[in-house]
Amino acid sequence: MSVSCRPSVTKYPLNLLMVSSEAVPYAKTGGLADVAGALPLELAKLGHDVILLLPRYRCLSESGRSFRPVCRLQVPTPQGPVDTLIEEDVISVGSGGRHVRVWTVRNEAFFDRPGLYGDRGADYQDNLDRFAFFCRATIEVIAYQHIVNHWKTHLLHLHDWQSALCAVYLKTIGQGRPEVQDVRTVLTLHNVGYQGVFPGAQFEKTGLPQSLFTPAGLEYYGSVNLLKGGIVFADYVTTVSPTYAREILTPEFGFGLEGVLRNRADHLLGILNGIDIDRWNPETDPYLPANYSVTDRSGKLVCKQALQQEFHFPETSIPLLGVIARLTSQKGLDLVAAIIPQLMALDLQLVILGTGEPELEATFQSLQARYPHRMGLHLGFDEGLAHRIEGGADVFVMPSRYEPCGLSQLYSLRYGTVPVVRKTGGLADTVVPLTVHAQQAGQATGFHVEEDTASALLSVLSRTVAVYQDRLMWEQLVEAGMSMDVSWARSANAYDRLFVSLVR
Ligand code: ADP
Repeated sequence: MSVSCRPSVTKYPLNLLMVSSEAVPYAKTGGLADVAGALPLELAKLGHDVILLLPRYRCLSESGRSFRPVCRLQVPTPQGPVDTLIEEDVISVGSGGRHVRVWTVRNEAFFDRPGLYGDRGADYQDNLDRFAFFCRATIEVIAYQHIVNHWKTHLLHLHDWQSALCAVYLKTIGQGRPEVQDVRTVLTLHNVGYQGVFPGAQFEKTGLPQSLFTPAGLEYYGSVNLLKGGIVFADYVTTVSPTYAREILTPEFGFGLEGVLRNRADHLLGILNGIDIDRWNPETDPYLPANYSVTDRSGKLVCKQALQQEFHFPETSIPLLGVIARLTSQKGLDLVAAIIPQLMALDLQLVILGTGEPELEATFQSLQARYPHRMGLHLGFDEGLAHRIEGGADVFVMPSRYEPCGLSQLYSLRYGTVPVVRKTGGLADTVVPLTVHAQQAGQATGFHVEEDTASALLSVLSRTVAVYQDRLMWEQLVEAGMSMDVSWARSANAYDRLFVSLVR
């Protein structure tokens, strides 16, 4: 799974086309938007010429950005060619005159809708048509750039099932077209739990020959599986942490694609995500009542006291635990709910911010009513409170059942809030557990929960609370976490090495 270092004779910088179904600040439903919003800028800082391609959803008109027309393309579809407007926004990168071009694919019928993938809890029925169209448009953008602007796409970086078909098109129906040949493809998997699965009868909507609807191609037990197609046809597959890259080869984490992924194991790499270190910076964070840094952490105590006031807790020095998450079973918060009575018997306070499964929300509500002076609950999405919890809590609890990368624990590290995480995926890779050896080396940054059980979580949290009393050891954990490099620059260097090794 290793990638060789940059070869001495190679094309550099590269022309990169990044294809994503969401990206900040344009459209967001999850972590993919953060990656697709940040990574192009970092790659541009390294000198690459990057175009980010997005569907022109309705929310782009509300993003505060403006777009100018670039060209009209004839996009082939099973119903015939569709005249399609490509528009452009330009984002400046740094002060050196670098920029990233953001191109959008306009199709009112497909994308001028309230949601990205669905509305009021239901997926759009025509998602296969919508994203097949988006991927066909991508191939036409590659051709246009080659023919009209002599801009040869060296590498196409695809994300999740929504853009996976691009790899299939390039390697199949694109093979007869010199202007789109020899484009390398990398598919990044942000969560293998979402695969773009559609009824087999809809396969013709892809516009691909029926010969590809086989177990060796896009068929998965009679259904069309777009992510599978991408995994089979991409030159390289990446995911967002080294541990998740290994986990998805097993039935527990592969969601049925473990066999397909095992076939590509020698072309599979885990690259950790970074975070936006400007937006998540305790030294400047405007949401915090006081700012602080690794060398002067006095402001963190002010943040803790303010958080205690906000939740009407007594202002004591007992440890304050924080949770911020979608309330879903993936995040393991049912395990937290199960041990609240025992946790409340320990000397601690707990604040939970989240929204999600109604049952879990109701459970937390009734628990909060039982322990109003020790447990705080905010059901809903609140960006400011998320920052205040990261700033004010002593411990961040993240017992996910699986976690491709995870962002919240990275914010916690940066905010000196010691993470207690399940030993899975990106959580295992980013939090160094407190062992004698790690402590002596000054590398420990948090705690791992080995098993997916309430008792394992309780036992690690009990230990965490005990270690909290050892102020010297605790401050070492905080300092090591705050000193970690969790920036996008680190991730971009890893993508850069991979891309360059593929384009020769
Ligand atoms: P995932 O993308 O699986 O939800 P991550 O840890 O990668 O998990 O990212 C979650 C992001 O969403 C973090 O930035 C976290 O602060 C934020 N978040 C989750 N729930 C809430 C909420 N209820 N209010 C505010 N921010 C939230």
